[in-house]
Amino acid sequence: MNFLRSFMWLRLLFLCWLSLSTFASSAQPASKFSTVSLLVVGDMMLAGAPGRAMQKGIDPFAGFAKLFKASDIRIGNLECVVATKGSQEPDKPNTFRAHPYSLKYLRKYFDAVGLANNHSGDFGPQAFSEMLGLLKKNGIAYYGAGHNLKEAHTPVLFERNGIRIAILGYDEFQPRNFEADHDRVGVAWSEDEQVVRDIQAARKEWRADIVIPVMHWGWEEPVANARQRQLARLMIDAGADAVIGGHPHQVQDTERYKNKPIFYSLGNFVFDGFSLPENNLGWALRMELDKSGVRNWQVHTAAISSKGIPSPTKQVLQFDNTMIQSFAPTGKLRAGINVGNPILAKLDAVTQKPVGVSVDLATELAKRLGVPVEYVVFDAAGKSVEALSTEKVDIGFFAVDPMRADAIAFTAPYVLIEGSYLVHKNSPLQHNEEVDRSEHSIVVGKGSAYDLFLTREIKQAKLVRSPTSPTVVDMFVAEKHDVAAGVKQQLELDAKRLPDLRLLPGSFMVISQAMGVPKKRGTDSERFLRIFVEDMKASGFVQQALERHKIEGASIAPPSR
Ligand SMILES: [Zn+2]
Repeated sequence: MNFLRSFMWLRLLFLCWLSLSTFASSAQPASKFSTVSLLVVGDMMLAGAPGRAMQKGIDPFAGFAKLFKASDIRIGNLECVVATKGSQEPDKPNTFRAHPYSLKYLRKYFDAVGLANNHSGDFGPQAFSEMLGLLKKNGIAYYGAGHNLKEAHTPVLFERNGIRIAILGYDEFQPRNFEADHDRVGVAWSEDEQVVRDIQAARKEWRADIVIPVMHWGWEEPVANARQRQLARLMIDAGADAVIGGHPHQVQDTERYKNKPIFYSLGNFVFDGFSLPENNLGWALRMELDKSGVRNWQVHTAAISSKGIPSPTKQVLQFDNTMIQSFAPTGKLRAGINVGNPILAKLDAVTQKPVGVSVDLATELAKRLGVPVEYVVFDAAGKSVEALSTEKVDIGFFAVDPMRADAIAFTAPYVLIEGSYLVHKNSPLQHNEEVDRSEHSIVVGKGSAYDLFLTREIKQAKLVRSPTSPTVVDMFVAEKHDVAAGVKQQLELDAKRLPDLRLLPGSFMVISQAMGVPKKRGTDSERFLRIFVEDMKASGFVQQALERHKIEGASIAPPSR
């Protein structure tokens, strides 16, 4: 914590000094300490409901006006054609043409818009040309498209505080007939060799200090695919300082490659017609650039209304390098994985590597932060709690319990698990309420959530602790105890595996499984993790992970707040 606090102070001092030196050197445009902020938003479709809103004089960007105002360069992907002419592409299921009154709002907020996407050509080349003319007339630059192939592959350049920034744009989502040609208006298509040449030319011929390609790619999935990863790496190898993508209509993971950030998809920004929660959540990305590259960034989460209008969420997911430092002070995210509870994780029978919902969540968090992940495997919850409390790991997965809340900051739960009692077939016990009597002994995994709960709640019966949760039933059988307590699904499996056992009906407790971070890491980290878990539930990630690992009996926890 002291380290983190002094780090933050150093950072603050550095920023003060930085602003002074920037001020002092404002006469010299190319101070090595100058910075520029670049705001990038996701997909904007200005026809449909957002179009009707603008017609009524509603400004769709008003919710983010402050953020736009606080940024030096503002860009976003314009996922429609803005025109009055042209005719709808035949056989294309969705075609979008926004009215030129939308230019009033684009002009107010944007320095440039990206046109390399699968909708800018929806009304043919005539409408496309009209749009290029309208943008020019309104002083809005564009990238990833042009009157011809050469223009489409030419970067848009910004020079601020002596820093030259080149933005390129590419589409690789069909149809390809929107592509520009030597004598035809259209978009830039991402042929690998051409992309590499463009990036190199941006630096050499256009003398850009910073080169950022903005991509239109990927499937409508929460995680980037192999092609996206391959091309992003290729672009960074060619000299790109960051890669930013869109099109999947949802936020995808982020990554750092050669210490350069990749944002695979920012999701939607202004777009209507989606009912799934993950489609109505987007990221506005604000990057701080200096001559050497991307210095820092923050992600502002946008909640998109049913009319396609974004507003900043109450829980603003902001992160930057400080947050990465806070979660991964060693450079990687050390995730404590408890394989003592098979609902959350277990060791794969073949690879002996941990697999499960908690592993998936740890991997996803590491991706969001852009750091590698390391799994630190424990066979019992108690050991995993101990490791997090003493900061031997950076995050962990636990049952929420007040006993553990001294050193660990918990998120809201992501899954709920039932705890049940197992008895011998011929036992007189029939109901959970009959268990707590002085003649009974209950076996429970040492340090598990059930142990903590029963230690508090059991007044008469004797608690016997097995070293780990998976050994509970074997000990219960071998030592002939009266009751075994644990995860309902685990006990059900044991009852099938071993003869003469049965479960008492219902559950004696419901366990809330949450993520945790050491309290010493500070309230910003707590908040970030809490919002991450809410995002993971809302986007369907947790549900999909439960299905992928064939986990039954655990239910997804309801949204918090
Ligand atoms: Zn698209």
